[in-house]
This record gives sequence, structure tokens and C-alpha cells, in this order.
Amino acid sequence: MAIQEVHVEPRPLDAFQTVQVSISPEWTKPRSNGNSAPRIWHINSTAVGGGVAEMLPSLIGYGRTLDVDMRWLVLNGTADFFAVTKRLHHALHGSTGDGRELGRDERGIYQRALEPVAAALESHLGAGDAVMLHDPQTAGLAPTLVDAGHPVVWRCHIGHDATNSQVEQGWRFLQPYLDGVNSYVFSRPAYVPEMLSPDRAVIVPPSIDPGSPKNEELDAETIRTVLVQAGLIAGRRQAKGVTVRTRNGNERRILRQAKVIAEDELPSWETPLAIQVSRWDPLKDFAGVMRGFVSLAASGEVPRNARLMLVGPQVDGVSDDPEAAEVFAEVEREWRALPREIRAQIYLVQLPTADVVENATVVNALQRHAAVVIQKSLHEGFGLTVTEAMWKARPVLASCVGGIQDQITHGVDGLLLPDPRDTGAFAAALHSLLDDPARAGGLGEQARQTVADRFLTLRHLYQYTELFSSLRVSPAA
Ligand code: UDP
Repeated sequence: MAIQEVHVEPRPLDAFQTVQVSISPEWTKPRSNGNSAPRIWHINSTAVGGGVAEMLPSLIGYGRTLDVDMRWLVLNGTADFFAVTKRLHHALHGSTGDGRELGRDERGIYQRALEPVAAALESHLGAGDAVMLHDPQTAGLAPTLVDAGHPVVWRCHIGHDATNSQVEQGWRFLQPYLDGVNSYVFSRPAYVPEMLSPDRAVIVPPSIDPGSPKNEELDAETIRTVLVQAGLIAGRRQAKGVTVRTRNGNERRILRQAKVIAEDELPSWETPLAIQVSRWDPLKDFAGVMRGFVSLAASGEVPRNARLMLVGPQVDGVSDDPEAAEVFAEVEREWRALPREIRAQIYLVQLPTADVVENATVVNALQRHAAVVIQKSLHEGFGLTVTEAMWKARPVLASCVGGIQDQITHGVDGLLLPDPRDTGAFAAALHSLLDDPARAGGLGEQARQTVADRFLTLRHLYQYTELFSSLRVSPAA
């Protein structure tokens, strides 16, 4: 099958209790007169894994509850198609990827793989239905859809602040498919490429779902139970796992233990933790975080006897990211070379990933427990870890790069590091947050408000419906 529909159930809106719900009424299905609004079809290339597959069920699920008729189709590509689109992905990020070209052969592979997909779309789409194509994998479907009279929006979730020859090559490849689309959506203004017409570009930042396992509300006792069971703070684990209940009544099961590399015993519940939770990627600069903390520890200046926890997914076994293992090994080597009493203040943590809900629940609990959340990235597309921590009212200390600067206003709802490589400034800012819990708490409270106002799923849904309305796709009269 070239394309498959993924069915999404309506999601209850109770996670938005404290947030304004405002959806353009013309987009909701009239309930009484039998006419229905045109549908919006989202098309991407995977049902699981990655940010798009995480956001779509939330957008579509809440949309259904609000009577916005959105559907989701996932295309099936061939291995050589995905090799080409991976190369495109790297190019748009300014890197060379596997070092191979994006030439005529690649264009042939790309287009041939999309032909059966375009043909299969006909059986799903109704006349006048609108389509949102996500990312480079689907851009090649646009001409067929435009010719068939569908309003088409191309949503690009990636981008690079600066342009170089790779970026240009990537956009040259995509541009011919995008000429006829009604609108392009980018996460930040800086990501709109020069080659595309700026008047058709719309900015829609990503969002997080306050009802998802990663972000749902947990009370203090639940946070503690989760962290003890995951082996992240001291306490008695249950051999058969534990089941906890979230504030909204969802049951979450925690069984697996994190792999913790440490000199000392685990921190207690009372120990303030500074954490960074990210993929083990060189651009997340875990080593820089450690060096900054070490500079405080070496001069005996870590306030409140706080500890540092560097946290990422497990890198052994099934990991599909060989770079992660190297990055972790490098951080571990540096950690082992530290004096024992300093090493004892730093924990290196790999979280189990076998069960995505369990993993998300542990990340949620850890972010909620942290005294300070760090994101010292050297580059960042948007930085969902920042949004997640802000929503949990944490004081966030993060680099002023990529989408992080769209989220944090320095000194208002977090702290920004103008130069992400400045270890001294980082250490001083970390010290200031750990040393003044009242100020840190104030930043955190404001951070939650910022996310409530700007970075939750309903804002995202609202912008999408507004966008399609502006294209004059309106409900059938
Ligand atoms: N994440 C996770 N488990 C981990 C590490 C990271 O679930 O062990 C999640 C994190 O909570 C966030 C996502 O991975 O939702 C990372 O997204 P972000 O935009 O911060 O960075 P990216 O990884 O896309 O560069």
C-alpha cells in the first residue's frame, strides 16, 4: 500500500482547563444542517518517532473534539527514497549527510517513489479538501494535488539559521515542487529560504501537548515514586514495577531502571538537581554543561549542595544512532578524569527507551523535580525540551540559539546565554539560579504562563485553521 490512514481518537480537553480555547468557528463542523466542512488532510512519512508524529495525534485528537475535521495519511516509501530524503534533511540543516549528491538520479528516485502515493491519494481525498504536506518527504506530492484543485500548504519542520552550499542544494531540489502551493509554514522566520516567495510564508512554532505522558500533571508523591522506581533518586524500588496515577487519572507503569554512572549513591529527594535532558548529540554540548558545573564545584561554589544530572536515552543495544554512543563515551571519559570528590557530584544517566510511555513519564517526573533545567545547545531547531521544562514552571538556563530565543525572554521567564560556548557565563548563571530559589521560582512561574499563551497544541491548531481560512477554504455552504 502506498499510503495509509492513521485513525486518531478525539482527545478530552481537560488538560487545557487553565488555558483559553479559541478556534475559528467556521472550521468546526455544523452539527445541525447536515453540511460538513472540508477536511484537512495531514500527510507525512511516519506514524511513529520524531516530532511530527508526536504532534499530529494531539492536533488531530483535539481538533476532533472541537469538531475540526482533520485526518492523517502516512506514505510508504522505498529504502532508496528514504536515503534521498535523509540526504535532503541533512542538506537543509547545512550538513553534508552521507556526502552523496542530490542530482538527477536522486530526483528520479524521489519522484518515482511518490508516483504511486499521488495516485493512491485520489481514493482518500474529497473535492475541495485541503492538504497539509509535512517535510521534504511529501513536497513532491504538491503539484498533483494543486492540479487536482486542492488547497495545499507545505509545512517544513526543519531549518537552519544560516545558509551554506548544502542548504542551497537542498532548497534547489525542493523548489520545483513548491511553486504552486498556496502557503509554506515554517517554525521561525529565519528558516524561510530565500528561494521561496516570502509573501506565501507563514510562521507557526511547534507546540507541546499538556495532556501527553511527557507533560501531564503529576503530584509530588507520584514524581518521587517514578524517580525512585527509575533508579534516579535514592529509595526502595519494587522488583515488579509500580503503577502511578496522574492528576487526570491516567495510570502509568514504571518498571525499568535507568543506567546511572555515578561515584556516589543516588541523590536524595531533597537534593537540588540541575539537569539537562537531550539526545546524546554533540550540538547539545553535554561536555560544556559538565565543564561549567565542574568550574563551580572545583572552587567549592555549588549552592545548596546541588548535583548535576546529564540525561539522555540509552545508547547501547538497539540504538539506531551510533553517534550517540560516541558522544556518551566522550562525556564519560571526561567525567572519569575528574577528581573523585567532583565526579561524585555529577551523574550520567541513560533512560530506557523500550516503552515510550514509561520513558516519557520518567522525563516528565525528572523535569518537574529539577531545581534548574539546562539546555546549553550550540544549535537548536526549536528546542522542545525547553518548552517542556517551562510548562512545568522550571527555571530554564539555555543558549540563545535557534528556537530557544523565541521561547525565553531573558530575565523574564528564564535565562539565556548569549554565547553558548562561554563556560564562565554559564557557570555564573547556573550559580545564580541555584543560589536564589525564590527568583528561580518566579522565572519558572512566568515560563509556564509563556507556554500556556504561546506553545500549546490549541494555539497550533488555531493557527492552522486560521491559515486554511485565509486561503478561502471555508465550510461548504
Ligand atoms: N527526549 C526523551 N527522552 C530522552 C531525551 C530526550 O523523550 O532521554 C525527548 C525530549 O523530552 C524532547 C525531545 O526528545 O521531547 C527532543 O526534542 P528537542 O526539540 O529538544 O531536540 P531534538 O532532539 O529534536 O534535537
